[in-house]
Amino acid sequence: MKRVLIGTAWPYANNLLHVGHLAALLPGDVLARYSRMKGYETIMVSGSDMHGTPITERARKEGVSPASIAGRYHEEFVDNFKKLLFSFDLYTHTDTDFHKKEVQAFLRKINENGYLYETFEPQDYCETCGRFLSDREIEGKCPVCGKVTRGDQCEFCMASFDADKMTDKVCRTCKKPTATRVNKHLMFRLSAFQQKIEDFAAENGQHWRWNAVNETKKYLEQGLPDRAVTRDLDWGIEVPLPGYENKRVYVWFEAVLGYLTACKKVCEDHGRDFEAFMKADGDLAAYYVHGKDNIPFHTVIYPALQMAIDSAMQLPTHIISSEYVNMNDEKMSKSKGNLISVHELAEQYPADAVRFYTMLFNPERRDVNFSIAEMVQTYNKFLCGGFGNFVNRNLSFLVKKFGGVIPKGQVEPAVKAYVDGLYESLGAKIEGGELRDATETMVEVIQYANKYYDDAKPWVAAKEDAARFGDITATCLYLMANMANLFAPVIPVGTEVLRDMLRLPKAVWEPIAPPDGLVLTEAKILYTRIEESAS
Ligand SMILES: [Zn+2]
Ligand SMILES: [Zn+2]
Repeated sequence: MKRVLIGTAWPYANNLLHVGHLAALLPGDVLARYSRMKGYETIMVSGSDMHGTPITERARKEGVSPASIAGRYHEEFVDNFKKLLFSFDLYTHTDTDFHKKEVQAFLRKINENGYLYETFEPQDYCETCGRFLSDREIEGKCPVCGKVTRGDQCEFCMASFDADKMTDKVCRTCKKPTATRVNKHLMFRLSAFQQKIEDFAAENGQHWRWNAVNETKKYLEQGLPDRAVTRDLDWGIEVPLPGYENKRVYVWFEAVLGYLTACKKVCEDHGRDFEAFMKADGDLAAYYVHGKDNIPFHTVIYPALQMAIDSAMQLPTHIISSEYVNMNDEKMSKSKGNLISVHELAEQYPADAVRFYTMLFNPERRDVNFSIAEMVQTYNKFLCGGFGNFVNRNLSFLVKKFGGVIPKGQVEPAVKAYVDGLYESLGAKIEGGELRDATETMVEVIQYANKYYDDAKPWVAAKEDAARFGDITATCLYLMANMANLFAPVIPVGTEVLRDMLRLPKAVWEPIAPPDGLVLTEAKILYTRIEESAS
């Protein structure tokens, strides 16, 4: 049987999620819901990225523990994803004992396989604070404009550089001049994978978004440098090798391995064999879903780590990397104050409204604009006025005039052929990661159904031609039953209400007809309009 792994990017737990995150991650849930309907063995995982210096710095400023900062945002993310109906098999975080233990095991494996080595390099050290300093923990004069700034990027001229290019360096915490000491680190031999990653990108690029192909090419052209696996920090995963007691595993290394540790956890909880699930045997489709700023981590660094762990493991097959979302035609940024948080959307709007709009205008090939007014209009137009109205016109007429009894009739062959064909065409788009196109097809289906109803005029046939009315009704109910299936990956709420009214079994990705002898008890409204002025 076909197996599907869907890994959506791990959000960093020191800030709220905004609509850009949502647009990048939601395609993963649409894929997962579709994949389960197809009967594929599906695992969808993600989690919060809890470690690293931005969290420790913020904790120091607020006088609380890093765990409390990260924990607070993790809980918030869990709540956001729940309200917007993300169907993760596991949404975890990187501070669990399971993740730590598994990352340590992977690190040992990579070491045994010969891809780690030690370096001894001079590094900035603060005698007062008694620790080594990372670039962002240092202040000094910018080598380009001469102003005093932080050690990784100049706040004034935006130049990026290494801290050793700066002069008059001081520790940012205590403002004392820095000293230099030799420091020991573990390095990952990423350079050893240059050719293998080039081959991998060449063989798999046809399933990647164009931005993934381009970004990966640029990254590979610069030549892959070895990367430090350890850093001087006390918040993070302990290094399971002697002599590294005061260091922790670097976030880039452990967070990206979260796909594997989370997948392993799901396998263990369900009595499945993790190695067998991840095996590259041609039956596993591995989708990685994220924003374009994350591309090299998923096309270069993560597959190199996978190869370093186990050469039999399936590498990413599909890279679903979104472009960016702008807010009301402006670049989204904290300083402009124009960020819309996922929290706000999840609290104030129906999940289907948020999901449908986010997918219909997904930044699949280019940056897109996001506006709440447009989201409300889209919802009112297509879900209330289109899909909901088609269902309600039919069902409330049957309930009012016929006591909910569905007359006998034949589904029109042309409509049946159109509907049945959608499972193939829409399914191919979803599996190919063209989820925006798939959502546009939903709009076409909604328009097709309403046009059929308007042209067929069942309210006239009901008076004049009972047989004709039976056929029109059978055709409309066939359309509806299959919309409940075909739309379920994007809008799970309304389709569930409809499925329940039509007494349909759980959603599957194949043509379905309402049960014989169906009697409707009521015509529930699928979607209630939102006042456009209220947005
Ligand atoms: Zn500068
Ligand atoms: Zn200091």
